[in-house]
This record gives sequence, structure tokens and C-alpha cells, in this order.
Amino acid sequence: MRFSELELPATILKILDAIGYDEMTPIQEATYHVISAGHDICALAETGTGKTAACAIPLIQMVDTKLNAIQGLIVVPTRELCLQYVAEIQKIAVKTGVVPFAVYGGFSKQIQAAKIRHEVHILVATPGRLIDLVYDGIVTLSDVKCMILDEADELLNVGFLSDIEFIFSCLVHEHQTMLFSATMPDDIKKLTQTYLRDPKHISLITKQAAPKAIEHYFKYIHPNAKQTDLVDYFKTEKIRQAIIFCNARHQVDRLFGSLKKQVKDLEYIHGGLPQDKRTSIIRRFRQKKIHALIATDVAGRGLDFTNVSHIINWDFPRELEQYTHRTGRTGRMGKRGLAMTYIAKHDLSSLRKLIKIKKVMPRWLGIDGLDSEKSGEAHQAETPTDKKRSSRRRRPRRRKSSGAQSTGSQG
Ligand code: ADP
Ligand code: MG
Repeated sequence: MRFSELELPATILKILDAIGYDEMTPIQEATYHVISAGHDICALAETGTGKTAACAIPLIQMVDTKLNAIQGLIVVPTRELCLQYVAEIQKIAVKTGVVPFAVYGGFSKQIQAAKIRHEVHILVATPGRLIDLVYDGIVTLSDVKCMILDEADELLNVGFLSDIEFIFSCLVHEHQTMLFSATMPDDIKKLTQTYLRDPKHISLITKQAAPKAIEHYFKYIHPNAKQTDLVDYFKTEKIRQAIIFCNARHQVDRLFGSLKKQVKDLEYIHGGLPQDKRTSIIRRFRQKKIHALIATDVAGRGLDFTNVSHIINWDFPRELEQYTHRTGRTGRMGKRGLAMTYIAKHDLSSLRKLIKIKKVMPRWLGIDGLDSEKSGEAHQAETPTDKKRSSRRRRPRRRKSSGAQSTGSQG
């Protein structure tokens, strides 16, 4: 279905046309009428499917620009997502007079307060700073018609549950609530039952699978050999842009220190950096001035990078959901993407879960040293079809079964 088939104001239609939004994405199509009809919704969709615009478009229409008050409230887990959300709303809201604004910690409260006092219709916020501003009497939520929780699972993961409950308790008047998430753990279901009013459940994820447009490669390797292997990977693999995920800040720092001379245009990001530095890194990454970004999971959530071709998991993520989120930074909007994850012995049981629960189809780039019992997963691996890749990869030293043998064709 096309946007032009909706009864959208001409100004918005024109903008959508100008920014190249012609066909609606499935989540946009599935939610538009439900949101416009005023229902609460609880929507699940894979990352990179246009959830931001799915709620931004009806939200912009809901705003009465004659009323100088916050009418739309969007709560997201990270500062980067705040900025990205506002950028997407701004893109669509130009010429409508609707003013979106982001508030998050690590940035001057005075400046944020001044802007809010002047005029803001849609506030995008991280929970901590939002509550701060509510306490200070700077933000009033009494005119909010619609509240959106985006990346709701992560909001809960990082311990925002009591904050979210507080925010809900500030919204005592009638309003619409939309909850967007890429995954639906039990906590969220509970939250939905408590705070949403007869919500419509919309799910475009059949099996909570990892995004489909992505090929999932795994490399079983001794941890000491990873660094050399990664440098080699960058030399041989055709990489548009890559994100290398580590589980800890100090690991990001260390890896950056040892790779910066060997990988061109390398940068790093984690929650320990000052906010203005994080913002500028994300901007430069989007502008393609950064070729590879070493990151903690701060970059693994919701951020939309259209040019990323490779996700590299230096560390196997601690939680399966993180695998989905990290790899969701590539393979967006129908583009192909590739994920490459280093596997150590202690990761094998998590890997097994990943294959089983997330239905990831593993392809192996080497199973050196993997014993026959443990290589069970490798038997399920697909035969890689990519001939180019096959010429570059070393053969696994041991091939134990026909399954592993076909794996060896890329080896
Ligand atoms: P999600 O929140 O589901 O992870 P995003 O909202 O970040 O996904 O959208 C992913 C990308 O798709 C963004 O670059 C956005 O500009 C683009 N996009 C969204 N809707 C459309 C559309 N209807 N047509 C073309 N591109 C779109
Ligand atoms: Mg999103």
C-alpha cells in the first residue's frame, strides 16, 4: 500500500514523496489505521522496518499546533535513539509547524528547559532526564494525547521499569499508548496488561527470528588469534561499513588501541564517552567518514545505519536478544548484510540457543579445533553459496561429517 492511498494532509504527502517514502513498510501499513482510530497498540516488528515513521506520521497529525504544549511523548532507552527519533520526526514534520525536541541526560538542563518553555509539541526523552524535568516542573504531561514507548524491551532490560511506571502514573488523563519493541519478553506483556487499554496486538514477527536479510557467519577461533584474524578480515572482505561489538567498555578501548593503526578510519563508542563525542561519532559514522566502529551495545539498539554491511561480534553477546539487536544494524530495509561472530569454547552453549531460539542459520568460517561432539551445530550449517568468499577462507583442519564437509567448501 502506498502513502498516497491514505488520507494524509498534502504537506505530509509531499514530504514523504520528497524523502522517497512511497510504499508503506508492512509495520506502517499494519499500524496506521489502528493508531489513527485511537487504539492503544503493542507492536512487534523486526528492526529496520520503519517503526519510527509508523508512529511518527500519525503522531504528527495528532498535534494541534495552536496549542503550545507537549502533546506527544516518546520514551526511548538511549540518547542516540532520542536524536534519531527527533531527526525522523523533523524530516516528516517540516512545514507542518510541529516542533519535536529531544531531552536526555548529559546535556544542559537549562538549554533543554528554555526550549521546552518556548515551544515543543513532541518530546522525545530518555526516562531519567524526563523524570528530572517533570520533578523540576519544566515538563508538564497533562496535555499528552499519545505516549510511545520505543524499544520497550530494552527500557526494561536496563532497569527503567520503575521509571516507566512513574511516567505512566503522571499520565492520569485519557491518552493513547503505543508500545513498540523488536522482542516481547514476559515483563513487557505484564506492563502491557497493566497500563494499556485493551491494546491491539500487532506482530509482524512470526518466530522472533533474527532479521532475515542477514547471513550469519561464525568463526571458532582461539581468543589469542582473534586480533590477527580481524585485521586479515578487513583486508580481504569487501566491507562498506562495519560495527565491531564488544561486551565491555574496557575491551572497546583496548581493541581500538591495538587496531587503530591497522584498520583505516576506525573509531570507537561506548557509554563512558561524553555525550557530545558520542553524538559526533554517530554523525560521522552516518556520513560514512568512519569506516569501522568498535562499540558496546550502546550502538546495538534501534539506531538506523543504512550503509552498514558487516556486523562483527568480537565477543559473543551476553544475551540472545542482543544478537538480534546488534545484527539488526545491518540488512536494513531489504539490503543484504553480513554478521560475523567469533566463537570461543565457552560460547558454544549460547550459540546452540541462538540457533534453536532465534532460528539463525549458521555458516562457518572455520571450525579449527572444534571437537566432534561440539561441532554438532556445524552439521546444521548451510553450504555457503558465495564462491568469492570460499576462495579466501582456510579449510577447517578437521571435517568430521558430510555436514561439516559442505561447510568446508568455504573453508
Ligand atoms: P526500526 O525502528 O523499525 O528499526 P527505522 O524506523 O529506524 O526502523 O527505519 C529504518 C529505515 O527505513 C530508516 O532509514 C527510515 O528512514 C527508512 N524508512 C522508513 N519507512 C520507510 C518507507 N516507507 N519507505 C522507505 N524508507 C523508509
Ligand atoms: Mg526503531
